[in-house]
Amino acid sequence: MDKKVTLASDWLAGCAGCHMSLLDIDERILALLEKVQLLSTPITDLKRPPETGVDVGVLEGAVNNSATEEVAKLMRSRCKCLVALGDCAVFGGVPAMREGANPQAALQRAYCETESTVAGQIPADAELATLRPTQALSEVVEVDVNVPGCPPSADVIFYVLSELVAGRKPVLKGPLLDWH
Ligand code: SF4
Repeated sequence: MDKKVTLASDWLAGCAGCHMSLLDIDERILALLEKVQLLSTPITDLKRPPETGVDVGVLEGAVNNSATEEVAKLMRSRCKCLVALGDCAVFGGVPAMREGANPQAALQRAYCETESTVAGQIPADAELATLRPTQALSEVVEVDVNVPGCPPSADVIFYVLSELVAGRKPVLKGPLLDWH
């Protein structure tokens, strides 16, 4: 039997919608799993790609703090081909909207001023990630395949993974980008 393509995924600053869209592949995932070995994902027990590396790494979300930067660099160092999945990863997307605001004001709004918050306070602990300017994944590490969409449709994700499994670089253009 041919050796399976190993795959790991993770998320940065995103909403998990891109991973949900991946699951929307539905029964086609069974065909993929005949050729793909999933080694780590945020939705399985193993969360980080193995030290021995994987063939394909998939990252959802933008880089916007020290933790997401660390996850992005770890995945890049452990995969041969890195896929930026979704608008947040490709362009900065929704998390990049924070760039128009004072970071402290954004924290104040999020932790203290929302309508449902009572006696909120901005968390402060040395172990918490520190904010950094929001960037697309390709501004932080080298990206091999950009897959735009918010989220990319299941059809697009299935196409991208199928092409990578076949050893080809996916070409996203025309109807494949007409995802809405
Ligand atoms: Fe969520 Fe859209 Fe960003 Fe994907 S691209 S993580 S669906 S906001």
